Amino acid sequence: MASENYRVLLINPSSNQFYVPTASLGLSRIAAALPQHVAAQGMDLNVFKWIFGLDEPSILATIENYLQKAARFQALPDLIGLTVYQETLPQAVAIARLARRFGVNTVAGGIYPTLFPDRMPLDFDFLIRGAGERPFAQLVALLGGGACGCGDPAHDHGHSSHRHHRHEDETVAGLSLHPDGRTWVHTGPTAAPPEIEGPLPRRAIFDEFNMGFHYYSVRIQSSQGCPYACSFCANAQFARREWRPRPDAAVLAEVEAALGDPAVSEICFSDDQFLGFSPADYQRAYRILRAVEEISRCRNLRVNLQVRADHFVKALECQPELAGVIRSLSRNFIDYAAKVSRKIHGRPVRGFSLDIGVESFLDERLREFAKGLTAAENRLAVAKARQLEVDLGLYMILFTPEVTLEQIEREFASYLEVYLDSDIFSKTAFLGLFQELVPYQGTPVHRSLAEAGRLVAAGNFTGFRFADLRAAAFYVLYRYQLDSGALEPVEGRGALVGTIRTLLLRSRRLGEAEALRPLLAGVICVMTDRSELERVYGQLAAYEAGTI
Ligand code: SF4
Repeated sequence: MASENYRVLLINPSSNQFYVPTASLGLSRIAAALPQHVAAQGMDLNVFKWIFGLDEPSILATIENYLQKAARFQALPDLIGLTVYQETLPQAVAIARLARRFGVNTVAGGIYPTLFPDRMPLDFDFLIRGAGERPFAQLVALLGGGACGCGDPAHDHGHSSHRHHRHEDETVAGLSLHPDGRTWVHTGPTAAPPEIEGPLPRRAIFDEFNMGFHYYSVRIQSSQGCPYACSFCANAQFARREWRPRPDAAVLAEVEAALGDPAVSEICFSDDQFLGFSPADYQRAYRILRAVEEISRCRNLRVNLQVRADHFVKALECQPELAGVIRSLSRNFIDYAAKVSRKIHGRPVRGFSLDIGVESFLDERLREFAKGLTAAENRLAVAKARQLEVDLGLYMILFTPEVTLEQIEREFASYLEVYLDSDIFSKTAFLGLFQELVPYQGTPVHRSLAEAGRLVAAGNFTGFRFADLRAAAFYVLYRYQLDSGALEPVEGRGALVGTIRTLLLRSRRLGEAEALRPLLAGVICVMTDRSELERVYGQLAAYEAGTI
């Protein structure tokens, strides 16, 4: 049992890209699974960064100030939990080092420690692999007070003004620790997902550190898992390959609870595939959306869903009333922040936003991704969504090891034709095409690249080289334009299309130049090192200028 007033601080590190801030669902669930006498607070560094405008040093200084003050009043957290993604690892490590200076234990969880536990720095005291709710609560119980039965008088798991004394008997499924301070020891298998119906997530843990900022968007999971096995998808490694829907009543109860906060005006159903995979599943989706639509008649509410193209089309065919509900949801909403929306999306947002995992508009590339659908199905889904007058986002993967310059040109042409003609155009959507494949460990794409010796370690990231040197040249030209801010003043569809077409022409010439072969053969995607990008771009520009 954890002692009374055991304190837990759950930190969500900040991402490099702006997303609408929402309370971390994973951390809110971990907090909800803790016994009541454990005081849990949350710190959302995305709010610090994107809402309060703090840069990295200021964020760390804020955390340090908080720890100093807490230490003065003997109110330090006993345990700090951090969600870690690949891109947030450096920040999480900096926080773990800070915590260690104050004698506070840290535990890292999330996708990255689950997939790459042995790559995690020993700055963290513990890792949680897999779903965090159960192992985190067990770890708190283990650390939180009283003897654990080990018979070691030094091992009191005391309310830690001093750090936890570790030993190897602590077998919590999904937990990793480093008793010798040198290597991680993994106790038990990766933690399985918890029962789908748990207590309501405790999103309010973030209120205090958000200092007056209220989330207007809430993530709710209405189902878990996906039966498909796309070659790039880390979810397929992380979750079960089956779809587990929650009962309608439970989902709607969570929607109503979330709407208890008057600031909330957006519900994001955070599912791999909200609609499910059979006529009965589509019916369930319709029932939930119909109930939410009724709420939206008297409450300004926006809804966001993620779907597969093929099941979106099938759901509309099997459940024709779905179209009417989606249309109503889209129209019922008034965008009171239209000024901000115009800046981001080029126009006020609508009440229904649909994200489709399209990945590609070319059949040969969809086969490569083992996506299990065709380009025609993707096109049809986009056309249907546009008829419904919803906000539409497409997930694309353009830069892959095998992509050719001709494929990039065809993807670009299809993207413009199918998705981005003038009435739906926005710069954010335009740039959404140029996404890189991330080869997550454990995925089929990672395995095949590793077997072919084509993976390259690039800091915390795993990158790859391009087979087509013209594609490598385009990647460098595009990334340089984007990262150097050269695309910022380019506004409007015509100007952006013109810029990309020029880059494609330049890439063809550069990629075919014999003298540039060694340089382009060394280009790594993802290029995270700015100086390396500048060096390669500089040489390409010098070649074009005839100075090399
Ligand atoms: S990409 Fe989407 S459809 Fe494919 S396995 Fe992942 S969640 Fe399922």
